[in-house]
Amino acid sequence: MLQQVNGHSSGLDAHGGEALREDLQEFLGQEAPLHLLDDLTKVNPVTLETVLRCLQARYMADTFYTNAGCTLVALNPFKPVPQLYSPELMREYHTAPQPQKLKPHIFTVGEQTYRNVKSLIEPVNQSIVVSGESGAGKTWTSRCLMKFYAVVAASPTSSESHKVAERIEQRILNSNPIMEAFGNACTLRNNNSSRFGKFIQLQLNRAHQMTGAAVQTYLLEKTRVACQASSERNFHIFYQICKGASADQRLQWHLPEGAAFSWLPNPDRTLEEDCFEVTREAMLHLGIDTPTQNNIFKVLAGLLHLGNMLFADSEDEAQPCQLMDSAKCSLRTSASLLCLPEDPLLETLRIRTIRAGRQQQVFRKPCSRAECDTRRDCLAKLVYARLFDWLVSVINSSICTDPNSWTSFIGLLDVYGFESFPDNSLEQLCINYANEKLQQHFVAHYLRAQQEEYAVEGLEWSFVSYQDNQTCLDLIEGSPISICSLINEECRLNRPSSAAQLRTRIESALAGNPCLGHDKLSREPSFIVVHYAGPVRYLTAGLVEKNKDPVPPELTRLLQQSQDPLLKVLFPTDPEEKAQEEPSGQSRAPVLTVVSKFKASLEQLLQVLHSTTPHYIRCIKPNSQGQAQTFLREEVLGQLEACGLVETIHISAAGFPIRVSHRNFVERYALLRRLRPRAAPGPQSPSPNEGRSEWSPHTEETTLQPLLQDILHTLPTLTGAAATPG
Ligand code: ADP
Ligand code: MG
Repeated sequence: MLQQVNGHSSGLDAHGGEALREDLQEFLGQEAPLHLLDDLTKVNPVTLETVLRCLQARYMADTFYTNAGCTLVALNPFKPVPQLYSPELMREYHTAPQPQKLKPHIFTVGEQTYRNVKSLIEPVNQSIVVSGESGAGKTWTSRCLMKFYAVVAASPTSSESHKVAERIEQRILNSNPIMEAFGNACTLRNNNSSRFGKFIQLQLNRAHQMTGAAVQTYLLEKTRVACQASSERNFHIFYQICKGASADQRLQWHLPEGAAFSWLPNPDRTLEEDCFEVTREAMLHLGIDTPTQNNIFKVLAGLLHLGNMLFADSEDEAQPCQLMDSAKCSLRTSASLLCLPEDPLLETLRIRTIRAGRQQQVFRKPCSRAECDTRRDCLAKLVYARLFDWLVSVINSSICTDPNSWTSFIGLLDVYGFESFPDNSLEQLCINYANEKLQQHFVAHYLRAQQEEYAVEGLEWSFVSYQDNQTCLDLIEGSPISICSLINEECRLNRPSSAAQLRTRIESALAGNPCLGHDKLSREPSFIVVHYAGPVRYLTAGLVEKNKDPVPPELTRLLQQSQDPLLKVLFPTDPEEKAQEEPSGQSRAPVLTVVSKFKASLEQLLQVLHSTTPHYIRCIKPNSQGQAQTFLREEVLGQLEACGLVETIHISAAGFPIRVSHRNFVERYALLRRLRPRAAPGPQSPSPNEGRSEWSPHTEETTLQPLLQDILHTLPTLTGAAATPG
């Protein structure tokens, strides 16, 4: 019997015995070769401790990728590992008969995804969701995957179409340096931190070649233009211009060497990301010609000078604030670079116009110094955000192809991971809301995949013990009442409302939801949301204002007066708006709040994701200092929690934590049939089937333990005995 199963005439060989010994040692936790375990769901038992140990052992052995069921865990090496991303290795994964048998890698995910598109008669779209906290390696990973597809999904070299395909692949790759120059910045957690979320759809034709792409971005952190936390920096592009401009350009853009700008902190840090040439080259590839580029940089220089416009406190409240003497030159330069008339620029920053009364009469009110600062910052944010959106649309028009030319797509999602700081605000609420949605999507997919697998195997199982995160989502976005709806309502009613009042409203309206908590010790009004990844405290102060994200209409009108060709494109004069400007004043369309806009784009994203087969890559930062060979268990644990991996591990452990294919199982364990199981105490004792071990997935570990110990002891004898036919 044994001989038949093994296909060996001599029965169990020494190698088989060794494999069994390893398995058993692993199971018993004895010197398990943890770094060799490719899948976290195979650690025995599946607990946080064993999972952490396994990841640590692998990291120290320079093995950065590990499977976790249907997820890939990617540890940031924090050092160059070029051999891990070479085109040769890409091809190896691409041509392997079974890439999943190779070492875990992002290319396995990439290739599996690609094969899924190819293998079906009716192509099913695919998506790869890359998550993790800032600095964990999401952008790196999605960039590598884009390069992977540029290699494996390229057209054949010989044909004429190759040139076109190469151009499109190169163009798609070139979108990265542009988006990173304008959307990334050096933060405390990552020198090249993306300050926006990104979903890129790589479009494939019937022959599964990449013919185009489309990018969608989410929530650019535009406040960074005018406000940077200490030791952080503005978007890379500003430093690139200041360092990389030619002598001529310096003159044109008024950027003399060593000029100090208050919106340009830490300019002396030299970063790889500050390469102006790379950005310009990429822009050129995507059809942004040199004059247009120079126009963009001139406007950005105008913003830097705007940032130097400092106001002095006004002694008389009825009088507008004055510019500091040192800032007068900045006003002139900024106005000239932005092609705006000087006086209206200054007036718009320091005088508010209010429409009131039945006749919508216009009143002019001088602003306080703080208000002037806010308006100045708002102007810069407005320009930068429009510029960023415009760039994305230019990139899209350059990489998008005719919708008829592609039949399927692979989506890559690189969004901010779960965030929890000592103080959290609307930004974190949006980010964590998105992560909560993605987690729900992931768990639904994961459970479905597990359930389907069990059904195929004919195993009975129900996930009754699993608690999903719908309650938390109800709290954040549910209808009719949720945190989002309450914040939106405050914006709509436009009533003066204190932080404490908002907290009380949230607490009383949503008291029944178990995911809402409050921090009794908190001095500032706040509420707690118990997310799947842990509780987060949100301060209510500023929530409503941030949600409104008010742009004084005077600012938009001012920019519409600009004679600059780029600003004319970014701020077109809308004839309808002009008509409305007259007496009745108010614009008709309801102003969308930040939360509503975010919710709408998130829903759209999820709709797309739902229509695809998802794949997951969870990036983990082994330490927050960015050091190679350093694995800090506490920090990793926090991230395993935040990316939902702990949850996945629990679900895995609640299901059948051990998975062995039938064939492997028989090959490895057939020799156990020669053993008589030791009588275990209790109801599970000896199998009625005399002389045969009953191996069922339901067998309790406690029952197995003594049996396995026994086997381990008898193994040497067995392996030796196996040389003679049984
Ligand atoms: P995130 O997008 O998650 O914030 P990044 O992808 O920007 O993080 O990665 C942060 C930094 O970590 C990168 O700039 C790079 O230096 C390093 N890094 C990330 N992944 C890798 C990798 N696979 N190999 C080498 N370095 C990496
Ligand atoms: Mg990033």
